[in-house]
Amino acid sequence: MHFYLATSFIFPRSLRLRLFTLCFLATHLPLLAYLGWGFASGRIALAEFVLLTMATVIGTGIALLGIGALLNPIHALADTLHRGEGDAPALPEVGDVIHTLYAGVQRVASATRDQMDHLHQAAHEDPLTGIANRRGFLSHMEALPEDRRRGCVAIIDIDYFKRVNDLLGHEEGDRVLASFATRLSALVRRVDMVSRWGGEEFAIFFQDCIEDEASWSLARIASRMRSEPIGEVNDRPISFSAGICRWTGGDLDEALRRADDALYEAKQSGRDRVCRAVPILQEV
Ligand code: GH3
Ligand code: MG
Ligand code: MG
Repeated sequence: MHFYLATSFIFPRSLRLRLFTLCFLATHLPLLAYLGWGFASGRIALAEFVLLTMATVIGTGIALLGIGALLNPIHALADTLHRGEGDAPALPEVGDVIHTLYAGVQRVASATRDQMDHLHQAAHEDPLTGIANRRGFLSHMEALPEDRRRGCVAIIDIDYFKRVNDLLGHEEGDRVLASFATRLSALVRRVDMVSRWGGEEFAIFFQDCIEDEASWSLARIASRMRSEPIGEVNDRPISFSAGICRWTGGDLDEALRRADDALYEAKQSGRDRVCRAVPILQEV
């Protein structure tokens, strides 16, 4: 790279011409040395000089052809990278082929990074509601720093959702799911994590909350479901049931399982209510 930069003053925008020039000078060096020595010593022989000149010219020609042929695939690759693909913007006019290749590789690397980010987001987001899916929820929980690994988890299930589909159609069912996700997200704090757990079930992590606070937050959402329904079935506002469980950084699966048991209890006790699970104490 040092030599490449040091010689960039020779044809700075063309690597091919730069190589030709260096090659031309290098192959003519022996001839120039012979000429210098011949004139200095007065012992120059015409036949030897002509022979040496012809050999040098032929050698230069072969070297130039070889370099040209070697550079062709590199130029073809640089042209491809330079043109760009699809909607990707073409590269701005850059210097010689090495710059073009370098910029092209950077552009491809950046496009790959964007694509990976996009795939990562798609894998962690629910396309219908736009909130995190189960995988997104779990990876969020896994990434929580030590001092934030406490609060309450809630599993929430829309009541009689099958009736929404059966009576109002699947499209309306989808709209209700999206509205419910929006409602949950709007009524919890920014630090709380809302996700679609699957089907018509949702999970929330109420960070740094005790059961009373999580319960109060869900009661507030339930009250809003009555005062501003996201939909009605048989003239009754759509409601939800929920189970909550305290989590203090221990086994998350266990806390979620207990929240699910509490949800089952809420369903069994008549729906449209929140039940609490037995708290889990962190092992010491
Ligand atoms: P419960 O009060 O006991 O929870 O009754 P439910 O009717 O809500 O529960 P059930 O498990 O019987 O029905 C859930 C329905 O949710 C069944 C399924 O077709 C529907 N569902 C799941 N995912 C989607 C979805 O993405 N869109 C729509 N429209 N429906 C869905
Ligand atoms: Mg369900
Ligand atoms: Mg349900």
